Amino acid sequence: MSDKYDVVVIGAGPAGYVAAIKAAQLGLSTACVEKWLDQKGGVRLGGTCLNTGCIPSKALLDSSHKFAEIRDHLAAHGISVKTPQIDVPAMIARKDRIVDQLTGGIASLFKHNGVTAISGTGKVIAGTKVEVTDGDGQVRVLEAGDIILAAGSVPVQIPPAPVDNEFIIDSTGALALSEVPARLGVIGAGVIGLELGSVWGRLGADVVVLEALDEFLPMMDQQIAKEAGKIFKKQGLDIRLGTRVTSAAVNEGKVEVVYSSADGEHTEHFDKLIVAVGRRPRSEELFSSDSGLTLDERGCIFVNDFCETEAPRVYAIGDVVRGPMLAHKGSEEGVMVAERIAGRQAQMNYDCIPSVIYTHPEIAAVGRTEQELKADGVEYKSGVFPFAASGRALAANDTDGLVKVLAHAETDRILGCHIVGPSAADLVQQVVIAMEFGASAEDLGMIVFGHPTLSEAVREAALAVDGHAIHIANRKRRK
Ligand code: FAD
Ligand code: AMP
Repeated sequence: MSDKYDVVVIGAGPAGYVAAIKAAQLGLSTACVEKWLDQKGGVRLGGTCLNTGCIPSKALLDSSHKFAEIRDHLAAHGISVKTPQIDVPAMIARKDRIVDQLTGGIASLFKHNGVTAISGTGKVIAGTKVEVTDGDGQVRVLEAGDIILAAGSVPVQIPPAPVDNEFIIDSTGALALSEVPARLGVIGAGVIGLELGSVWGRLGADVVVLEALDEFLPMMDQQIAKEAGKIFKKQGLDIRLGTRVTSAAVNEGKVEVVYSSADGEHTEHFDKLIVAVGRRPRSEELFSSDSGLTLDERGCIFVNDFCETEAPRVYAIGDVVRGPMLAHKGSEEGVMVAERIAGRQAQMNYDCIPSVIYTHPEIAAVGRTEQELKADGVEYKSGVFPFAASGRALAANDTDGLVKVLAHAETDRILGCHIVGPSAADLVQQVVIAMEFGASAEDLGMIVFGHPTLSEAVREAALAVDGHAIHIANRKRRK
């Protein structure tokens, strides 16, 4: 096997594997170094996203959603069923098969595109060289024209609740439980805590989410966050804001959790406790001290807008660098970097990255929030359309939530879209496309949308920006 490549990528998650495929497609000889091993000791591709992140969590969210639909929502349609039962091992096995299929798919794509997968732990050493240590401790050095670091991230651990992988678990453990815990504690009401709390809550667990901050989803548009909070409360999800966990200890098969809130100290007992307090970049032991790379204050590899590090010809992308920890953000950075290495003028639009929380209803957003616009002194207009007024949502008996479109007060250019509601993830993508084309709210309002669709709610919210919505009483009317 040659030890010389045009491009060497470290990490085969959605950032690294996409960068590797793109580089190979552009005619560059490419190797991708990955340390994750499968059960047989072979290299496991796909990173967090495919193995323990986006895909397995969505598989379980879909299974548990079907279960909850049958149990709670079929009666409204006149359908009666006997009490549904959940076979947790079968549900987990289905999730594992999906993961295997997709990770195997990346291996096929590597083969098809001529990317060489190399099993081992990669480290950048001075110059553009990568030292690879395999599972047996054998070391080889790869010479690279350019290097792309895509080492991803790992769950944050907090001293009050050390993960034991049995009673106190992280997101990976929460994707592999063998039965529904009767009482489940979740530390952190962020994206991962809400999604995993939803999975087990829908299957019957009594879920309590403990969140240190007083504000729910502070990074989201606050109108949407408040609406989502109300919907989750109605669903019975017990989210306790302003509660900081100070200790968690396992006692006679239960986790005893102590937390403090404004009214003092409290104790709760759970069968399992999920620690979902965020992720941190996996930037340690990735480069030697003489490689020229530096970290920022959050431990991310320091890069500029083009993902160039401070070392020449070394790039870093995905969760290991600044920006939202989202699979598609890393993948797009991977495409940009591969193109730039191939001599093309590629760039990323960081203002147009959608983000989604896959609860039911989903929460999705792109662009600026109302509070950000206010803080920056940007003059804006807002249009809101509730799903309660959508014929399609009513037909589906799924009317919780709303669409909100924010546009510039003078130019009418769309600045953001925030949705809590059915299929919000897919709906927001329409606005991502509109924003990428520099559309105004009026442009979006002039497009023909099929009827009856949930998408009509997006158009109506765009029309509502200037008081022109058809299917709600407008708060204001333009002359
Ligand atoms: P990773 O996917 O973490 O991949 C990095 C890879 O590099 C790993 O395979 C690792 O083994 C390898 N590696 C690390 N160091 C070395 C080394 N020195 N040598 C060799 N290999 C190395 N994002 C979304 O966009 N949508 C979602 O719905 C979503 N859901 C999520 C649900 C959960 C439960 C979790 C945990 C995450 C979720 N995410 C989601 C986040 C998403 O998984 C990450 O943003 C994404 O995986 C980051 O991609 P990456 O390629 O940067 O890193
Ligand atoms: P995210 O980073 O979006 O996954 O969210 C993680 C959440 O966990 C943040 O909102 C933190 O405020 C919260 N968190 C961190 N430590 C604690 C703690 N000890 N008790 C309760 N919540 C916490």
